[in-house]
Amino acid sequence: MHFDTIALHASHAPDPATGAVVSPIHLSTTFARNETNELPANYLYARNNNPTREALEKALAVLEGGAVGMAFSSGQAATMTLLQALRPGDHVLLSTEAYYGTPALLEQVFHPWGLTYTRVDMRDLDAVQASIHENTRIVWCETPSNPMLAITDLLSVARLAHEADALCVCDNTWATPVLQRPLELNCDVVMHSTSKYLSGHSDVLGGALVFKTNNEFTQRVRTLQSLSGAVPSPFDCWLVSRGIKTLGVRMRAQMATAQVVADFLSDHPAVEQLHYPGLSTHPDRAIVHQQMNGPGAMVSVQIKGGAEEALQFIGKLTLFTRATSLGGVESLIEHRASSEGANSSTPVNLLRLSIGLEHAEDLIADLAQALR
Ligand SMILES: *Cc1c(COP(=O)(O)O)cnc(C)c1O
Repeated sequence: MHFDTIALHASHAPDPATGAVVSPIHLSTTFARNETNELPANYLYARNNNPTREALEKALAVLEGGAVGMAFSSGQAATMTLLQALRPGDHVLLSTEAYYGTPALLEQVFHPWGLTYTRVDMRDLDAVQASIHENTRIVWCETPSNPMLAITDLLSVARLAHEADALCVCDNTWATPVLQRPLELNCDVVMHSTSKYLSGHSDVLGGALVFKTNNEFTQRVRTLQSLSGAVPSPFDCWLVSRGIKTLGVRMRAQMATAQVVADFLSDHPAVEQLHYPGLSTHPDRAIVHQQMNGPGAMVSVQIKGGAEEALQFIGKLTLFTRATSLGGVESLIEHRASSEGANSSTPVNLLRLSIGLEHAEDLIADLAQALR
């Protein structure tokens, strides 16, 4: 079966108790024992597990082709819980360019707690190999990267990680399993912020981890999930499951529009540089073809001038909403350096576009008038 069919049916089944075509939301925090003190459906308490979260977790595992899925209350909670499974003295290798919250957790939470980490340009495989030490437990990739849309060769990095008995983790938030399935490229764990494309409507925070195999490490993370309790509410799980039903169509439509927008911007005289893996000039095109089903719907543009010109440009837009985050049905634009704050290394003339479901011609008209 094709991905769309699998995704729809993984997140959808008539309720066996009532026949309801749409799954109910199980709000109960606790589950009754029978006369002999057993739990008939194996649910005990909602922090450990509940039917609505379990349905989402199964769907997540199916989408990524993994053995075990786990849902969290945010992408950061997923990252946090995975890193908590490491031990003081362990080392994490992280890409130079990553969602700012990942290095922030490593620096502010896990470094004081005894974890070490280094950052490396994951496109430089010699540098990756040289940076993996005997205590390296996780090599953390994010591809396409935020916000420069650099591409990591997952097969090669996973091979280097495995040579050192480290796990290869991929933050797959930007590509989604529609476009990239890291576990099929030998990664061990996929991480998602489901706040983005998976839910798709900018109305729920969530995170996910999907594990290729159900081993001791996976079970350690499972234990931490219920012990530390950064789990999503049943309603949040239900919203993410609903989003998954339309993930394939949304992703393809948003990506088609992103390509048109990127082509328009790449020719525009006010543009200094465009970052989009769908451009024939993108430096990592060969890997895009090899590991992705398409370049995605995120576009970053550096316009001529500095921060002032960039902010003036977005101030004139009417269809794009000036906001952080991404992956929803409405197009957003963000001056990333402003959001990242003082330590940001993002160019001050860079704007990040999350292309939504508006018509391409209307988005281009808006960009054209604002760039004039
Ligand atoms: C948003 C995002 C995160 C963090 O997820 P939250 O749900 O905001 O906690 C992590 N990685 C990437 C690539 C993201 O875009």
